[in-house]
Order: sequence, then structure tokens, then C-alpha cells
Amino acid sequence: MNANPPVISIICPCYNEQDTVAVFTETMLPELAKTELSYELIFINDGSRDQTLSKLKDLQTQHANIRVINLARNFGKEAALTAGIDRSKGQVVVPIDVDLQDPPELIHDFIREWQQGYDVVVAKRSDRTSDSFAKKLSAEWFYKFHNKISHVKIPENVGDYRLMTRRVVEAIQQLPENQRFMKGIFSWVGFKTKIIEYKRDPRVAGETSFNGWKLWNFALEGITSFSTAPLRIWLYVGLLISLLAFVYGSAIVIKTLIFGIDAPGYASLITIMLFLGGVQLIGLGVMGEYIGRLFMESKRRPIYIIEEDN
Ligand code: UDP
Ligand code: MG
Repeated sequence: MNANPPVISIICPCYNEQDTVAVFTETMLPELAKTELSYELIFINDGSRDQTLSKLKDLQTQHANIRVINLARNFGKEAALTAGIDRSKGQVVVPIDVDLQDPPELIHDFIREWQQGYDVVVAKRSDRTSDSFAKKLSAEWFYKFHNKISHVKIPENVGDYRLMTRRVVEAIQQLPENQRFMKGIFSWVGFKTKIIEYKRDPRVAGETSFNGWKLWNFALEGITSFSTAPLRIWLYVGLLISLLAFVYGSAIVIKTLIFGIDAPGYASLITIMLFLGGVQLIGLGVMGEYIGRLFMESKRRPIYIIEEDN
């Protein structure tokens, strides 16, 4: 590495990516060379269980300007990204996936827009044909729901692939939370943003580590990190149910006064009890989500632990 800070820092989190790191590097480096700007390519090995780390070290011996940060275990993509961003030195920082789903050649558009004066240039997937039907649909619902209930809007179909200037990075570093939903954090800080569209290709090799359950939890993370609407809605649900109960109760009282007491009523009672029990449990569950997050956050643990950085 040369002593002067590079212009571009590429941040690339890797988890079990032994089949993709080499082809990624071979595709990325020529594009970076074309920009004629100085750069560093930072790989973050996020506790891979395969040969990713040794492949990365091989690449480091073959090419200059590659850095490998090895995390002490798998901390998750958001933490790995944060580690890379924190350790980057470039004037602009570009997080990118290692599986070539984010086309490296977009870097030229990023740099052009940056030179036009934008602080953030984001890549928006104009089509998601490479994703499964379920993933597309759930992503669409997620963005709609998230943006409806939270104050910070995240642009639809925008991933982590983007360019940010140093001052945006410094703003991001002021957000101290441990549970980092990067898309939300990136949007939260704001700045003059340009959106450019691209087509998302399938993975070159390997497998996605975001499926079903993990995506669901990721979505919950996003919503609970940036909105308290799910907590507050229980006030209104409670008010509505109390109102209904009051109306129903009054009807029963009036009926009893007019027609006298009749014993049957098991069906309606059990239905109402079960319904209320269910509603209360949902409310408790939502509380639990937030309290759990408060609990995790209150420990003030570091976001990641670095084992080596060279
Ligand atoms: N990744 C990571 N840590 C994890 C999971 C994923 O660093 O715990 C990296 C992964 O190596 C890749 C990027 O995050 O570079 C995106 O992951 P993936 O392609 O599996 O997600 P998808 O594109 O399917 O959303
Ligand atoms: Mg991918």
C-alpha cells in the first residue's frame, strides 16, 4: 500500500465465497484501473467456514492495493460492511457484493456523478428477474410496508451498492447503534443523492446466504430499527376492541333487562376470549421485539471484532 490515501475504497464483505473472490477480483481490478484513480480493494472475511480467507490471501500476494480484514467470527453482512467502512481511507467509499450481482462497470457512472457534485450515488435494480418470485414479492411488500410506517424512506430496490463521499461516511460513523440495518442508516444520513439504474445479474458462483427465515429477520430488523409504529398501533387496536366490547356489553345488558337471563353463551364467550388472548399475545410479541432490541443495544457491545487487518 502506498502512503497516500487512495481516492476510491471498495468494500467487499465475503462469507463463504471461495468460488467468487477470484473472479470478482479479476473483473473489478481492470475496471478500477480504467478509472485512472488510486484505489484500495478491501475484503472483509466475515467468518467464512470455507477457503475464502486463504483465497483472499493468495489474491493479496498477486495484486497490489488489496487489503484483507479478517473478522473473528461471522458477524453478518451489516457488521462486515461497517468494519470495512470504518477501516477505509479513500475519499469515496463503494460497498459492493463479491458475487458480481453488482456490476463493477457501474463504478464509472458512480465516479462521473460524484465528479458532478453528488455525495451519494446509488444503484437501483431496474429489474429483479434474477431473483425468485417469492423474493421479488416479499421485497416489494417490505419496501411498501417499511416506507409507509417509518419516517426514513428507503428507496425501493436499492441495495448497498453505492458510492459515498468521506463526509457521508463520517456522518454514518456518528450512528452508534449496534444493530445496523445499513440500508436504513444510509438513507437516514441523507445528502445529495443520485440514483442510477442497472440490471441485477444472477450470482456468478456460490449460493446466497439470505433465504426465508434470515430475510424475514432482516425485514423485522429494518422495520423495528426505523419505526415505532408497530409499538404504537396497540393503543388503537386496544381502543377499538374496548369500544366494540363496550357496545357488545351494553347490548347484552339491555337484552338481559328486556328478556331476562338466559344461560347459553358459551360459543360467543369462548370466541371472544380466544380472540382477545390472540390479540394480547401479538401485542406482547411486538413489545418483545423492541425490548429485545433495547436489551441488545444497551449492552453497548462492539459491532465487530477484527482478528487481523493487513
Ligand atoms: N455476506 C457477508 N456475511 C454474511 C452473509 C453475506 O459478508 O453473513 C456477504 C456475501 O459474501 C456477499 C454479500 O454479503 O458478498 C451479499 O450476500 P448474498 O449474495 O448471499 O445476498 P443476496 O445477494 O442474495 O441478497
Ligand atoms: Mg448476492
